[in-house]
Amino acid sequence: MAAQIIDGKQVAAEIRADLAQRIQTLQQQHGVTPGLATVLVGDNPASVSYVTAKGKACNELGMQSFQHTLPASTSQHELLELVAQLNRNPDVHGILVQLPLPEHINETTVLYSIDPNKDVDGFHPVNVGRLLIGEELFPPCTPAGIQELIIRSGTPTDGAEVVVVGRSNIVGKPIAVMMLQKKPGANATVTVCHTRTRNMAEHTRRADILIVAAGKPNAITADMVKPGATVIDVGVNRIGFSESGKAKLVGDVDFEAVKQVAGKITPVPGGVGPMTITMLLRNTLRAAELAVAGRR
Ligand code: NAP
Repeated sequence: MAAQIIDGKQVAAEIRADLAQRIQTLQQQHGVTPGLATVLVGDNPASVSYVTAKGKACNELGMQSFQHTLPASTSQHELLELVAQLNRNPDVHGILVQLPLPEHINETTVLYSIDPNKDVDGFHPVNVGRLLIGEELFPPCTPAGIQELIIRSGTPTDGAEVVVVGRSNIVGKPIAVMMLQKKPGANATVTVCHTRTRNMAEHTRRADILIVAAGKPNAITADMVKPGATVIDVGVNRIGFSESGKAKLVGDVDFEAVKQVAGKITPVPGGVGPMTITMLLRNTLRAAELAVAGRR
């Protein structure tokens, strides 16, 4: 029997409806509208489209969006000045500096300059540390979206074997840490694979939950998946061109073959992708709620 498809668009829409209610409550009870500042340096087309989508999503939910677009020639000093201003601005609850930055700017220096209480991407080392000890303020958006999909698909996690393929700082490592926590929706036994892993299929075939963030089409084939497993495909790869002349998007999993083996599976597109911006909105609302509660 073919796997159940986990519909990320549907889950994202449900969460956004809930967020919209919470935003209204915050406005009615405290006169506060959550605000997200995005900072884009240069005109990388992918970055422009990500930042535009984030601003649009904010507005649709009734949040404020402050979009700062700077030329690629902006100096590091000028960028740090802008971040400092946003840190001080009480209308700005979340700050997102779109990566990658131009080569002459040190990304780490810029990310460290963001107030950790406004770091809605969760990349500041203070927030990475909080995540590790299970006291996170802002879980990073893609891993948070993955965990929501697992929970809302009804996949049990307690004691489950979770195998993560990929160990990047933005996906693989944080989702591994999150699934390991002594908390509902986690409590799993976690294995992390990467390019130096020997016999990767031996690990992936044990997985009750297989999370793949390798950035390689067909990294996971049907013979590498345990029958009935929940498979979360994080990969976004542009391959070849469709009949309309657009690049075709595929994940890291051989979807057609794996869906015959898995119990549940996310598609690409329409799986993890729609969840990422939703989790950014959730973190921004959380930052505003914390500001109101005076916990900053
Ligand atoms: P990354 O920084 O390139 O990391 C990829 C990781 O996968 C590395 O740890 C690498 O191992 C490992 N890897 C690569 N090929 C492998 C293979 N054949 N077998 C085992 N491990 C392998 O990528 P990322 O930023 O984590 O992103 C991963 C994918 O997710 C990309 O396709 C990206 O576009 C997508 N993504 C999607 C979203 C979304 O919202 N949908 C968000 C973020 C990322 P080494 O460490 O040994 O090199």
